[in-house]
Amino acid sequence: MDTKRLYEISKNHMWLPFTQMKDYEEAPLIIESGEGVMLKDIHGNEYLDGYSSLWLNVHGHRRQEIDEAIKAQLDKIAHSTLLGAANVPSIQLAEKLVELTPEKLTRVFYSDSGAESVEIAIKMTYQYWQNKGVTTKTKFVTMSNGYHGDTVGAISVGAIDIYHRVYSSLMFNSYVVLFPAVYRHPSGDEETVKRESLAAIRQLFEEKHEEIAGMMVESMVQGAGGMNMMPRGYLKALEALCREFDILLVVDEVATGFGRTGKMFAVEHEDVQPDIMTIAKGITGGYLPIAATMTTEKIYEAFYGDYTEMKTFFHGHSYTGNQLGCAAALANLEVFEKELLVDQAAKKAEYVKEILAEIAQLPQVGDVRQLGLMCGIEIVKNKETKEPFLGEERTAYKATLRMRELGMLTRPLGDVIVFMPPLATSFEELTQMGRIMKQAIEEIQLVQQA
Ligand SMILES: *Cc1c(COP(=O)(O)O)cnc(C)c1O
Repeated sequence: MDTKRLYEISKNHMWLPFTQMKDYEEAPLIIESGEGVMLKDIHGNEYLDGYSSLWLNVHGHRRQEIDEAIKAQLDKIAHSTLLGAANVPSIQLAEKLVELTPEKLTRVFYSDSGAESVEIAIKMTYQYWQNKGVTTKTKFVTMSNGYHGDTVGAISVGAIDIYHRVYSSLMFNSYVVLFPAVYRHPSGDEETVKRESLAAIRQLFEEKHEEIAGMMVESMVQGAGGMNMMPRGYLKALEALCREFDILLVVDEVATGFGRTGKMFAVEHEDVQPDIMTIAKGITGGYLPIAATMTTEKIYEAFYGDYTEMKTFFHGHSYTGNQLGCAAALANLEVFEKELLVDQAAKKAEYVKEILAEIAQLPQVGDVRQLGLMCGIEIVKNKETKEPFLGEERTAYKATLRMRELGMLTRPLGDVIVFMPPLATSFEELTQMGRIMKQAIEEIQLVQQA
């Protein structure tokens, strides 16, 4: 189909996620193919995939082992239901996931997206207490700027005002505690921020623990909330508080899982054992929509019994446990092992640290934040006072459009430019990406000053 028609049809009939379609019309992008960390549009322009195709891609595009695993699975079957039945690759993948995730997580409940894995975590937490006869525990606690997906349950345990405000009367209420964000805190001191946040949580737990079912938290890094890093020891302390007050700890590893932060799962940085953990994005290497909610035997057992006891977890999706997706996930995890990819990613993260240190010197960069290959560059109008740009100037968005012209794709979060390259990105490609980001940010300054 000719390129003009593709664009016309997309403009007339498509409605893209998280997109003001007027923006799309002004700067349309239609991808046709990809190879390694390069994406190619319908005009033949090439772009480095600086955001891992929205935080998913691991080994680059068209990775042979994963392509072949999907083709081989196609010769057997594409999909059969998991409702009341199992299938071969979903069983094999469950074994692998149990092996890779923290020790206590021994049960795998599949779904198709991160938001669904969170919905499942919410219902599982809620019903766990109901099944145990503790009917008062019905509420959740979440962190300011937390993000857990876009479905109604997931936004109810999230707290990003601009995404959620319009739906407020549709959502159920959760308690929101302050995330220990260091850069914007008046003290600017990690220990102070950590202490204040934990004290506030302790107070809430002391007052309300009888009604709190679960604590929802992104693991080590808040992604969509602006790439905010937890101070060291914070997640571990939060785990202890949850145990002390008998609150289930639900850790969202949708963005941070599968090597992204330099460990297979970010909880490993602090040796945390969640009661429930959600995983998605990198699970298939960025190929197909598979997600999972992992939990412990303790929780599983609260649902187990004769049907007439009505303890069953009544939840499922049509494509849950899809064979093609599970086959892709298995092949993805084999490549992880074969290439010692998590160690590789940790080494690359060291190199990215150098790149970011240079970018941090730019006058319009207020802060750079990084854990592994999950990075944010916060641009500001005034580096000294940390004064932000006016929201309507959309400075970071414009910077990313300039990056696109220079040959790299990413999407900002407010004033934060996201840098999340695929784990397999080479040192040379990382250098190129760093150069493009630097140039685009420098050029913004020129416009600002002019
Ligand atoms: C992306 C994301 C989700 C939602 O995942 P989808 O697959 O987009 O529904 C949930 N939690 C976190 C932390 C995420 O980054």
